Amino acid sequence: MSDAPNPIDKVREKLLQSAFRMPSVQTMVSRKSSITNAFVNAIIPVVPPTAHEIEEALRILAMDPENLRCAYCGDRSTEWDHLRPLVKNRRPTGFISEIGNLVPSCGKCNQSKRNEDWETWMRSPTATLSPFCRGVPDLEHRIQRLRAYQRWRPTEPVNFEQIVGTAAWRAYWQRLQAVDEMLAQCQLAATDLAKTIAAARHASTRTDTTTTPQ
Ligand SMILES: [Zn+2]
Repeated sequence: MSDAPNPIDKVREKLLQSAFRMPSVQTMVSRKSSITNAFVNAIIPVVPPTAHEIEEALRILAMDPENLRCAYCGDRSTEWDHLRPLVKNRRPTGFISEIGNLVPSCGKCNQSKRNEDWETWMRSPTATLSPFCRGVPDLEHRIQRLRAYQRWRPTEPVNFEQIVGTAAWRAYWQRLQAVDEMLAQCQLAATDLAKTIAAARHASTRTDTTTTPQ
């Protein structure tokens, strides 16, 4: 009458365990960087390019608008990426969303690059999925082209603090600080509730193999 499952040998067990992946758990605190990005993105100027500017950009990058490739690796482009990052150390770098600071990119490169200096990242032997690590051909040639692109629009970072005044600037980042503190408090409350919920489930279902979150 028992419907106990058949035993699973070690090899099969390893295979099955490696086939499954629990979706990663987002904590309140792990949202910090996306909240920082939102604080930065909410204030930086966005300058849409003219058709002439797009034409000039693609000419420098030697690209066909009907077959846009990633400027870093040559794969199919899916987005335009900020060549110089907008955020560093949880603050704006002063670079903005304008075509001179945007290049066609694939999702893989955009995610791998994060807020790194583009050239250091392209040559990086350690950054996961960097063009160097992926053995992208013509790496030097691509770097030269991107340097030329930077020379096309040599922009100085915008000094936002100078524009808005120190008081308004500090007040804005104090709001981010307040959000951080609130998130930390929310996380404590959530951890408490999660423990209680897991313990209650464990008590009500003896066969339940749910583990208590750490
Ligand atoms: Zn790429």
